[in-house]
Amino acid sequence: MGIYEDLGLKPIINADSRMTAIGGSIMLPQVMAAMEEASRHHVDMFVLQQRVGERIAALTNNADAFVCTGAAAGIFISILSCMTGDDPAAISRLPTARPARHQVVVHRAHRIPYDPAIQLAGADIVEIGNALQTFEWELEAAITDATAAIFFVAGEHLRRGALPLETTIAVAHRYGVPVVVDAAAQLPPRSNLWHFTRDLGADLAVFSGGKDLRGPQSSGFVVGRADLIAGCRAHASPHQRLARMAKVGKEEMIGLLRAIELYLEEDEAGRMDRFEAIVTGWVKRLGTLHLAIAVTRDLPNEAGQPVPRARIDLNPTATGLSANAVQRMLLQQEQPVAVAAEFDRYLYLTPDTLEPNDECIVTGAVVRCLESLGYA
Ligand SMILES: *Cc1c(COP(=O)(O)O)cnc(C)c1O
Repeated sequence: MGIYEDLGLKPIINADSRMTAIGGSIMLPQVMAAMEEASRHHVDMFVLQQRVGERIAALTNNADAFVCTGAAAGIFISILSCMTGDDPAAISRLPTARPARHQVVVHRAHRIPYDPAIQLAGADIVEIGNALQTFEWELEAAITDATAAIFFVAGEHLRRGALPLETTIAVAHRYGVPVVVDAAAQLPPRSNLWHFTRDLGADLAVFSGGKDLRGPQSSGFVVGRADLIAGCRAHASPHQRLARMAKVGKEEMIGLLRAIELYLEEDEAGRMDRFEAIVTGWVKRLGTLHLAIAVTRDLPNEAGQPVPRARIDLNPTATGLSANAVQRMLLQQEQPVAVAAEFDRYLYLTPDTLEPNDECIVTGAVVRCLESLGYA
C-alpha cells in the first residue's frame, strides 16, 4: 500500500492545472536529490538566502532574487519591502506602527483571491478603474505620498479592464513608486522570468516555485531591484520579525534553485511540441465520440499561459450532460482524473501537468465516462 492509500487517499492524475488543491506539481528526481543533500547539513541561513538569490538572479537575468514560501508570501514580503526598505527600525515597529507609505494601488480588474497578502503586510488597497476599463489619470490620481507600490497581476486573461503594464510602469516611475508584478503562474514562457523586470522595467516580479517550475510546492521567489530584494531579506526569516511566519527552509531554497536550473536547461520548443501532440491526440480521439460533442484546441489556458488545452463542449442543451457532474465522475473513478470544468458546459484537458503516458489514461477515463452516460 502506498503512503497516500494508507491514509485513505487515491493519487490523482492531473489534467486540470497546477492546482495547489491537488498538490501543485510533481518534483523531478534531481530536485528531490538536491533537497535530500541539503537536508544533511547545518548551514548559515542568512548567507544561503543571499547566495541562492544571487544564483537565481544570474540564471534569470535579474539584479537580485529572494526565495520565499510561495508567491502569496512573495506578495506579502514584497509589499513589506516597498513600505520600509531594509530599515531595521521601521521593520521592528511592525505591525504596530504603520510606515508613512502604506497604500498599494491595484486595478479593480486585478482583484484576485491572493491579494489579502497585501493587507496582511499592513497596507491598504486603493482600487482604480472598474471591471471593464481604467484610465491613466485614475492611476495618477491614486498616487500620493502614502503610496508604497502598485500591485499588477500579469496574464493575458486579465488584460481587459486594466492599463497595460508598460503604461503602469511609466506612470509609477514618474512618481518614484515601485511596481510589483504578480507573475505567480506566468510560466511558460521562461522568458517571463526576466520579461517583466529586465525588459519592461517592473521593480519586482513574484513567481511560484511549485507551479510550472516543478520546484518544492512550498516555494516561490521574487526577482528584481537589488535594494528592494535586500528589503525582502531584511524582513524575512531567519530574522525574528513579522515575516518570520513565511520561513523557508534550506531544502526548499536548494530544491527551488535546482528546479530553476533544470527549467532553463529544458528544450522549451520541444516541450510545446509535445503539448500540441497530446492535444491533437485528444481532439482526434474524443472529437469522434458523438456528433453533439465538439472537441477543439483552446489557447491561452485559464492562467493566460500560451499552453494549448483540449476543450470538450458537452453541449448541454442537446445532450443534457453537465460538465460539473462529469468532472466529479472522473474524480470518483478507481483511478481518479482531475479535469477543469467551466459554465457547467465545457471540460478542459491540459497536457502540461501530466506525467509521461498519463494522456492515455486521461483519454480512456473520458471515453469510459461518456460511454457510461450513453454518449460514445
Ligand atoms: C498561484 C498564484 C498565487 C499564489 O501562489 P503560491 O505559490 O501558491 O503562494 C498568487 N497569484 C497568482 C496569480 C497565482 O496564480
